[in-house]
Amino acid sequence: MRILVVEDEVTLGGYLRRGLEAEGFAVDLAEDGEQGLWLATEIEYDLVILDIMLPKRNGYLVCADLRAAERWMPILMLTAKDGEHDEAEGLDTGADDYLTKPFSFVVLLARIRALLRRTVHERPAVLAAGDLVLDPARRVVRRCEADIELTPREYALLEYLMRHPDVVLSKTRIIEHVWDWRYEGGPNIVEVYVGQLRRKIDAPFGRCALKTVRGAGYLLAADGG
Ligand code: CA
Repeated sequence: MRILVVEDEVTLGGYLRRGLEAEGFAVDLAEDGEQGLWLATEIEYDLVILDIMLPKRNGYLVCADLRAAERWMPILMLTAKDGEHDEAEGLDTGADDYLTKPFSFVVLLARIRALLRRTVHERPAVLAAGDLVLDPARRVVRRCEADIELTPREYALLEYLMRHPDVVLSKTRIIEHVWDWRYEGGPNIVEVYVGQLRRKIDAPFGRCALKTVRGAGYLLAADGG
């Protein structure tokens, strides 16, 4: 696994490189934000460790630029700041995790392993399954260029399904993610909403993207059915 460390403190950068190399990682070191951004754009790193306070381009901007350039590798932010707003800003710009200096190298390694376990997949702003498109920012759903009107709950269900294409989702799991704790009914409510969704996103277009997997749950076909 190849890791890019973007860190302007020479001592810390060298320490990280040696430590990570000793663990078997291939490590590149960038000493400012511009160099880090350039390297991470040119090379397919498996993970980036990114300081926030950097010369030339700060870590927030580097992170946002990488996501805008459709670079989806895990990004772990490393910083001396420890305010909750800084943490939120880091995550909002697309970082996956956050570690405050001074940190334990053992904990850093554990975080890196956890991030590498996650599959790296695209996390685009607009979700698509074939010609079925959902834009979370605009709350718009379309199929074959036609707008589809959904109730808020139908929309939430579809968004959850589209964020997990080709994955069988149980009723219980769907309930946990689409309904809040105030919902006191049983899991069969999911059946009702799946039926409603099919009548809007599939039936009018002659598709069957939203499939029932008998005894297991539901699945939205990544190709849109
Ligand atoms: Ca720094």
